[in-house]
Amino acid sequence: MAEQFDVVVIGAGPAGYHAAIRAAQLGLKTACIDAALGKDGKPALGGTCLRVGCIPSKALLDSSRQFWNMGHIFGDHGISFKDAKMDVEAMVGRKDKIVKQFTGGIGMLFKANKVAAYYGFGELQPGNVVKVTQHDGSIVELKGTNVIIAAGSDSIELPFAKFDGDTIVDNVGGLDFTEVPARLAVIGAGVIGLELGSVWKRLGSEVTILEALPEFLAAADTEVAKAAAKEFKKQGLDIRLGAKVSKADVTSKGKKKEVALTYADAEGEKSLIVDKLLVAVGRRAATKGLLAEGTGVKINERGQIEVDDHCHTGVDGVWAVGDCVRGPMLAHKGFEEGIAVAELIAGLPGHVNFDTIPWVIYTEPELAWVGKTEQQLKAEGIPYKAGSFPFAANGRAVAMIEPAGFVKVLAHAETDRVLGMHLVGANVSELVHEGVLTMEFNGSSDDLARICHAHPSLSEAVHDAAMAVTKRAIHKAN
Ligand SMILES: Cc1cc2nc3c(=O)[nH]c(=O)nc-3n(C[C@H](O)[C@H](O)[C@H](O)COP(=O)(O)OP(=O)(O)OC[C@H]3O[C@@H](n4cnc5c(N)ncnc54)[C@H](O)[C@@H]3O)c2cc1C
Repeated sequence: MAEQFDVVVIGAGPAGYHAAIRAAQLGLKTACIDAALGKDGKPALGGTCLRVGCIPSKALLDSSRQFWNMGHIFGDHGISFKDAKMDVEAMVGRKDKIVKQFTGGIGMLFKANKVAAYYGFGELQPGNVVKVTQHDGSIVELKGTNVIIAAGSDSIELPFAKFDGDTIVDNVGGLDFTEVPARLAVIGAGVIGLELGSVWKRLGSEVTILEALPEFLAAADTEVAKAAAKEFKKQGLDIRLGAKVSKADVTSKGKKKEVALTYADAEGEKSLIVDKLLVAVGRRAATKGLLAEGTGVKINERGQIEVDDHCHTGVDGVWAVGDCVRGPMLAHKGFEEGIAVAELIAGLPGHVNFDTIPWVIYTEPELAWVGKTEQQLKAEGIPYKAGSFPFAANGRAVAMIEPAGFVKVLAHAETDRVLGMHLVGANVSELVHEGVLTMEFNGSSDDLARICHAHPSLSEAVHDAAMAVTKRAIHKAN
């Protein structure tokens, strides 16, 4: 006999744990199931984000940034030292500790909110019953008046470059190298490829990023992508565009392994030999084994669970959120969908505004944006005004030796409503939220220009960029 719940959530990643906790806060009897195990072989909640995604990658980005700064920035501050060394084991160990703290934290939040946690693999059966195969092989059945599927995503594997967890890896292996690879190739110049490529480059790897598309970061504003590419080049990241990889052969030289890559670009076929290969060509919805026959839940042509604007699957009481449905594969998009669905189930007006979801790439400099790019506005024929301001003219940025990049504000030519904000530079992952807030409140560039910003601060660059929209920036010629 299946135990009855108001809400059963499959998956305890960002989308699932938000849905479960919010549902429980709203007084709904809630269960959440997750199949994942941590590096220690014990159940680990928190999904890709906490185990092998957002948080561990930021831990390594921060460690490697400190190391890089020692060699490249400290001298300018007058700090000298001898023989700086990176202990990779200690760096990865620090990352693992952070992962353990946060994955364990979700378990505590579940207890505090009275969410019943089930550790195992969930399969949705017809009639909103979820069959859970627990790690000890035992099976329990949970029936939900509502079921929220939050199964997340897995790395896409290339048929000629199968993951072996050692020489050819995805993000999981790329976060756990035991030493700095002398030569690292990354397939895919997207967010994950750039972030993990940066980590190992800063620690001394010779990093080559091979990207099949001819344009660098096509989703970003062209000016932002161009400025970032210039900085990455200065750092020695070798990004080769229009490079389609067709072969990755692992060979052994005694104990040492190498990967021989074959790729083609505009000049013809080329080869590249590296010690490690990181494949970061995207992720796909994790739906394998998730749906039994006859549930009625549909999978679209991209392999995602089909949902409407409110994350409903069309099957009575069955919802889906996060990476396993349409929309950007971002943890915070999943957070908001999880909360919105829990609120809709409880009869509240849950909603996610897709127009104001911020994007961030945590490289050095960081890239961040919200809303439409200039190229999108042009393509859609929307009249706009642009104002930008360089960090090289911002006192705080220069004092921090962080002069790279700029802030750009895009506003409607007639209404002045902010339509987008695009940033490249230090800490722009934080600054972008000025754009998010302004857009959420239907604010104008004039609103932003009239808000008092602390001096000296990086956020003054946002203020100046907003003032530049109407050619009244004080700290630059308009
Ligand atoms: C290296 C890397 C860095 C990233 N950095 C960022 C970042 O900085 N910012 C950002 O916003 N996003 C980032 N992301 C993306 C982010 O991790 C995902 O968008 C987010 O984790 C998706 O959340 P989710 O809850 O939909 O799915 P997931 O986090 O994938 O969680 C799904 C969970 O469901 C479990 N599960 C799946 N199927 C079943 C089943 N049938 N039964 C039981 N359990 C199941 C899985 O084990 C998993 O724990 C990064 C991703 C990677 C790989």
